[in-house]
Amino acid sequence: MMFDPRTPGRRAFLRSGCRHCMALAALAGGLPALAGEADDDQFELPARFKRPSADSDEGGLWAMMDREEQRIRRSPLTLRDAGLQDYLRGLITRLVPEHAPDIRSYPVRMPLFNAMMAPNGMMIVWSGLLLRVENEAQLAAIVGHELGHYLERHTVEQLRAQRDAALVSQFVGLIGGLGAAAGQIGIMAGMFAYSREHEARADRLGMRLMKHAGYDGHEAVAVWANLLAEDRITGGEDAGSRGDIFATHPPTTERRDELRRMAENSKGELGADSLRKAFAPLRFGWIQDEIKRGQYEESLVLFDRILKRDGQDAEALYARGEIYRLRDEGSDNMKAMDDLQHASMQIKAPAETFRSLGLLYQQRSDAPAATAAFQKYLAVAPQAADAGLVRGYLTDLKP
Ligand SMILES: [Zn+2]
Ligand SMILES: [Zn+2]
Repeated sequence: MMFDPRTPGRRAFLRSGCRHCMALAALAGGLPALAGEADDDQFELPARFKRPSADSDEGGLWAMMDREEQRIRRSPLTLRDAGLQDYLRGLITRLVPEHAPDIRSYPVRMPLFNAMMAPNGMMIVWSGLLLRVENEAQLAAIVGHELGHYLERHTVEQLRAQRDAALVSQFVGLIGGLGAAAGQIGIMAGMFAYSREHEARADRLGMRLMKHAGYDGHEAVAVWANLLAEDRITGGEDAGSRGDIFATHPPTTERRDELRRMAENSKGELGADSLRKAFAPLRFGWIQDEIKRGQYEESLVLFDRILKRDGQDAEALYARGEIYRLRDEGSDNMKAMDDLQHASMQIKAPAETFRSLGLLYQQRSDAPAATAAFQKYLAVAPQAADAGLVRGYLTDLKP
């Protein structure tokens, strides 16, 4: 009798994505496990997931996630930009063509770096993440990692292990409860952090997906390194407690080293232009959210990094200048003037650049320069919400 090695493996996988079953499946079938130590070109993804029956524990989880998804659909924070949604859909399709029809992604306006994926196929990506990734390959690395958790059903395993049903529903509620304080999300998320092993597996699978789709694997290392650099500013010990990706995906140096090892000899696409184009209409809003967050030291690491890549980036010049102006310590006033003047010379200078320049000149009692800057602001943004206020400044500046 012929023995088909694929059948037992597949079946075992559908039952559970857990390590023990995976190992068993690999043994039984002689196949490389999904995220095991197999050759990069030889890995199989599980078949599409079917909706579990409503009376099973997993069915209950899905129903909870479905309710959250409804809330996210209605949330004013969800970004409904068609271009951005098409772009994310395209990326997911490129990474996991077969599973893409089951996955719905929701970009949400939240100024922290986070992404999460629920077992029912809902993926949430925060705008703070979109602002921080430097190219499509970096976004593919994060999305690929989340898909790794989804494909191996880590969240199901994790939530199933949690005996306290009220806690689970509270946690799920936080996903869609976007108005919740980031600190609250952080505390809850910490209780549901993925295990070290699940993280390693998601990293490995994410790396495979991105490389297979033709992206440069080194960008997975870069994106985590950038994130760690920003987080280190405020002290690593409370990393993630505010609700960023570190809360549920604990960073370790082993993870970074392992990613580096897996990325070795990887060549591929970066996709910097496609990403820039897709984000351009929304990016300034994300930058304004970042400034409002009031975490100036972290934001300065971010904008220094952006400006190192492109010193003429008018939005980033405005942002860094505005942060210096708001922080106003030591030589911040001069640095603010420098960046804002530099921004004002760019064709794409945000209108807000001129308002901030006006305020700086006003502070220096340079009435003619302040007047000119405020007039320019009103000329560029006559409909601005604070136009009346700025007209008042102009009246006060009259000699
Ligand atoms: Zn397990
Ligand atoms: Zn993870």
